[in-house]
Amino acid sequence: MGLTMGEAMTKAIYALTAALLVLGTILWYNTWRFAAPRPSPSAAADEHAIRIAPADSAAMVERFSRALQLATVSRETARRDTPVFQEFLQLLRESFPRVFSRMQEERVNELSVLLHWKGDSDTLRPLLFVAHYDVVPVDSSTIHLWTYPPFSGTIAGGYVWGRGAIDDKAGTMLTLEAMEYLLAGGFRPRRSIYIALGHDEEIGGLEGAREMARRLDQQGREFELVLDEGGTVLTEGLAGISRPVALVGIAEKGYVTLRLTARGEAGHSSMPPRQTAIGRLAAAIQRLEAHPFPAAITGPTKAFFDAVGPHMPFLPRLVLANRWLLGSLLMAQLERQPPTNALIRTTTAVTMIQGGVKPNVLPAQATALVNFRIRPGESVETVIKHVRSAIADTSIGIEIFGKLAIDPSPTSRIDNRAFRQVSQSIRTVFPGALAAPYTVLGATDSRYYYSVSRAVYRFLPLEVRYDDLSRIHGVNERVATAGLIKGVRFYIDLIRRLNP
Ligand SMILES: [Zn+2]
Repeated sequence: MGLTMGEAMTKAIYALTAALLVLGTILWYNTWRFAAPRPSPSAAADEHAIRIAPADSAAMVERFSRALQLATVSRETARRDTPVFQEFLQLLRESFPRVFSRMQEERVNELSVLLHWKGDSDTLRPLLFVAHYDVVPVDSSTIHLWTYPPFSGTIAGGYVWGRGAIDDKAGTMLTLEAMEYLLAGGFRPRRSIYIALGHDEEIGGLEGAREMARRLDQQGREFELVLDEGGTVLTEGLAGISRPVALVGIAEKGYVTLRLTARGEAGHSSMPPRQTAIGRLAAAIQRLEAHPFPAAITGPTKAFFDAVGPHMPFLPRLVLANRWLLGSLLMAQLERQPPTNALIRTTTAVTMIQGGVKPNVLPAQATALVNFRIRPGESVETVIKHVRSAIADTSIGIEIFGKLAIDPSPTSRIDNRAFRQVSQSIRTVFPGALAAPYTVLGATDSRYYYSVSRAVYRFLPLEVRYDDLSRIHGVNERVATAGLIKGVRFYIDLIRRLNP
């Protein structure tokens, strides 16, 4: 005897309800397990109170302002205003007399500075603090938009204003302030401390950071920690997280520009072929844009979501905790916005195009430049392979354009003491902030230092708002004076932690 229609339907509904209940329980259980752990009590305690007197804070802000007044603009060697760079280094000597009398100084390619404070221990691995004091030029067409002249270092409204305020005279000055403070207090490090100040980060760091890293490598140094610029403390939070998020870069994307060239027969346009060189190039670009690189949440991006996910509101947390089921939904969401899309894949940006000489002449050649930012896990080589297969036209030439062809950096460890101590210092100096590893989308000097450490972190201890970040390399770059002092405290706290 078969079941009646009604019985069958009832059975099916029961089965479906049971399945949904099981599924719901799994989703909910995963989401619950993915919740943020309670912070351990020690994380909140300020173990090393750092006292900076108001008069000292004011002097720090004053020194910072002077550092912004020198236009150390990065240009290729021949066009560089070398005397201004020299003047800046002289200003550092005058501002930090203890640092420059107690630390050993080595000049690299004349303008980069490597400082060494010898620690008591010969066996403990040393620390390396990296910063750069060159800045990008100010676009003359935007100069009237600056509230204060870009190289005035004006102190007003709770901010210090000027080109380089965040990128990266903050890193340069705050690191040296911390050393000066520690020296004044009679601090003796057990680990040796190195500082590497680059003078050409904004144009690739070839003379500065690359050379300093090479020297340290030749000396056989292996560092416990390398700390450079990169992430900051986002006071407004991120992705629905209502507390500050301190982003610590553990990897950076690679960079390459490819030139695509289509060739044709020059001639009169009265008897054209079916497609000109421009048409073939356009079709190739169309296919390239239609075939984005594969997206994935792996390596440093997975580490990022693992860190911030538990702090997100319930729904995104549910999605992140159940990637086995909702992965494609998550990907679709991340792909929608350019900033999150850039986190999960190698990006493709067709930035320049050229071809043709006259309206009635067939173009002999058409070229396009395409800029790629390469996700960790891929390489310049795999990018070229992908492009070749995506455009599927062997008559289109593909070649690397320009001097910069950089593979993505390796990924720094986060399961080690150095990363834990950085996180701990973040929690101490920026109470309530969540420390999260992430991938830096631009290039920094940090990539050169993997030859001397696997613990390379990109974090500038400054509290910033999104509005402040958009001013970097733009108009009205500025830094909050209160933030400067916190930044100094961060470096002091970290150095003390790493020298128990
Ligand atoms: Zn920078």
